[in-house]
Amino acid sequence: MKKRIAALLILFFMFGVYCERSVDIVMASNSFSKEKKTGRKEMDKLLKDLLMSDGISGYEENVAKIITEALSKSCDSVETDNFGNVIGKRGNGKKKIMIAAHMDEIGMIVKHVDEKGFIYFIKVGGINDPILMGKTVKIINKKGEQITGIIGTKPPHLMNEEERKAPVKSENMFIDIGLSSKKEVLKVIDIGDQIIFEPSAGILNGDFYYGKAADNRISCYAMIKIMEKLSKNLDAEIYACATAQEEVGLKGGKTSSFKIDPDFALVIDTTVSGDTPGIDPKTSDLKLGKGVAITMIEAGGRGTIVPHKARKLILDAAKENNIPHQIDIIDGGMTDGAAIYTNREGILTGILSIPTRYIHAPASVFNIKDVEAAVDLAVKTIERQIRENR
Ligand SMILES: [Zn+2]
Repeated sequence: MKKRIAALLILFFMFGVYCERSVDIVMASNSFSKEKKTGRKEMDKLLKDLLMSDGISGYEENVAKIITEALSKSCDSVETDNFGNVIGKRGNGKKKIMIAAHMDEIGMIVKHVDEKGFIYFIKVGGINDPILMGKTVKIINKKGEQITGIIGTKPPHLMNEEERKAPVKSENMFIDIGLSSKKEVLKVIDIGDQIIFEPSAGILNGDFYYGKAADNRISCYAMIKIMEKLSKNLDAEIYACATAQEEVGLKGGKTSSFKIDPDFALVIDTTVSGDTPGIDPKTSDLKLGKGVAITMIEAGGRGTIVPHKARKLILDAAKENNIPHQIDIIDGGMTDGAAIYTNREGILTGILSIPTRYIHAPASVFNIKDVEAAVDLAVKTIERQIRENR
């Protein structure tokens, strides 16, 4: 009996040591970020909500609600137009200034459910097929519930040599939500439901943040901050527009800028950062933490060729106010700017871009200081534009 009590005591002691060890490990990872002097301990709630929210192209209702609520604090009116763009308006004056940031994210849509309950999908926006393999996704059903699924395919062990050599295509992938029949699956979700990557948002270390849908929710966040920071006494009507369906053809930027017909539009979006392995500086030498990127040419000129007048306006504002900035000349990818500057008889348009790593992947990395630089530069550019054109 005494032996048994002794054994129990030893077991208790060992369990105690184990618990203490696991507490130590948790404490250690917390102090890692706290030790950094410049870093913030927590992500701003609005930024986190925007990154975590769902809203693939054409399904922007939930993220639109967050933006509408935030913009209503700084705007005289906020409306959602026929197309799904959220447009906040403030002030009066001769000039009309438009700020545009797209709110949609890339994702997928449920296309087909097979008899065994596996879900097939189509992609919405530019997604490179190999990144999809094994990812956790959420299917948003009509009740707004998020159903967790895993993207699967035939395991490499069972592939023949030819199959193994070629990258798996998205049409050969399916989502597994843990139900075993079509009937069961269709009780939970519908054909046509949107699918997003598993929401994530947080601080990696210091000023380096991460999150789903950084393209382009970080710019939506910046736009809200710009409206809060802009002087209340500007001789102009200021429009803050969270555009819909940018990722599938710059559509919301086209319709909203036609309606607003601004004298000057400033587009805010993310751009590819070149500071990760495998990217030649000749392709991109943008770096995280080195400031907001002033975009001059997109997609080798097939996208926006920012007018010289707008480039000078933005560059002068950056230099005069010592705002950290980099120059972005990109051979691939374009923004709402391309639809806005070719709209009507041509709208004077500038583009500010926030360098971002792993764009169009389930989670991206960015530097909060670059977001802040984008806010500062947008404010100074807009105030200068109104002043110079009086
Ligand atoms: Zn974008």
